[in-house]
Amino acid sequence: MINLILFGPPGAGKGTQAAKLAEAYDLMHISTGDILRKEIAEQTALGLKVKSIIDRGELVSDEILIEILHSVITKHKEVKGFIFDGFPRTIPQADALDRMLSGDGQMIAAVISLEVREEELIRRLLNRAIELGRSDDTEEVIRKRQEVYATQTKPLLDYYRKTGLLREVYGIGTIAQIFEKLCAVVDPLKK
Ligand code: AMP
Repeated sequence: MINLILFGPPGAGKGTQAAKLAEAYDLMHISTGDILRKEIAEQTALGLKVKSIIDRGELVSDEILIEILHSVITKHKEVKGFIFDGFPRTIPQADALDRMLSGDGQMIAAVISLEVREEELIRRLLNRAIELGRSDDTEEVIRKRQEVYATQTKPLLDYYRKTGLLREVYGIGTIAQIFEKLCAVVDPLKK
């Protein structure tokens, strides 16, 4: 199995690139944001519980996220690997992911961080707000999500740097150019 984490702030392009990598390397793409948005759209008990948190740009609890991940991973034992997009976002989530994978004799092959400056992120997210109309894409919430990233999620970069798994990729350029750089990181992992 090749298990990858695509890491980066909101607006870095994780969703777009994770979908392309999943297709190219036959991996299962797990976007926790998409899973939560689906729960909201279907008005499930979980969806109703998390909607206001997501709309404020805050993080949903580790407990909920870890349970979601556990359920997805245990349901898909047959896959060639996972690409995690938007998870982990906190150190407890990263620890839980390690435990879940190692329980199956698996591990993370690489944590690929997409590096993009904050002004560019905000510009992209404001454009996405116009194109997709996500309810957490207002300017105020966009800024809040960047702040949450900086304080709660960014510390994971050091965490993964220490494990030697971190690969940093500059996330500016066309989708195809960035994808090519990501493939250059992933290809050697297949061997
Ligand atoms: P995303 O589409 O990855 O930007 O996620 C949208 C929102 O879903 C985030 O702003 C959080 O409120 C919530 N969310 C997604 N993934 C996580 C996670 N791993 N931990 C906590 N909250 C999450």
